[in-house]
Amino acid sequence: MIVTGNICLQTKGNCDIIDITDEVSRALTESKLNAGTVTVFVTHSTVGITTIENETGLIHDFTGLWERLIPESARYQHDAGIGEGNGHSHVRASLLGASLVVPFCERRLTLGTWQQIVLVDFDNRPRSRTIVLQFMGEL
Ligand code: ZN
Repeated sequence: MIVTGNICLQTKGNCDIIDITDEVSRALTESKLNAGTVTVFVTHSTVGITTIENETGLIHDFTGLWERLIPESARYQHDAGIGEGNGHSHVRASLLGASLVVPFCERRLTLGTWQQIVLVDFDNRPRSRTIVLQFMGEL
């Protein structure tokens, strides 16, 4: 059986990290599925999905990494063409990836104790975002 839903939320942009674990767990409960996998997918080109321990120090480490790896101040051809100034946002999002697959058993996500599902919005301004949740599994 396949159950598809979505989460809509507002972000602040600029490496805004939002923990969506509770929303995914709630949708799993509502799906009535017992075991299977959920795909968490963002329908945007400047947003990524991953897991992290949602702890203040680590969040600073993680956002600092993106600035060192793909600096906002570098030159991007995307900015010359469209002029949105978010070339770095697209490159960061593509590197992080637009989806995540999490297995679930007995109606619980098989996440580790310190592992949360997070959306990372790399865009350079606040945005409205949609995350698709597709559960595939058995009742
Ligand atoms: Zn752009």
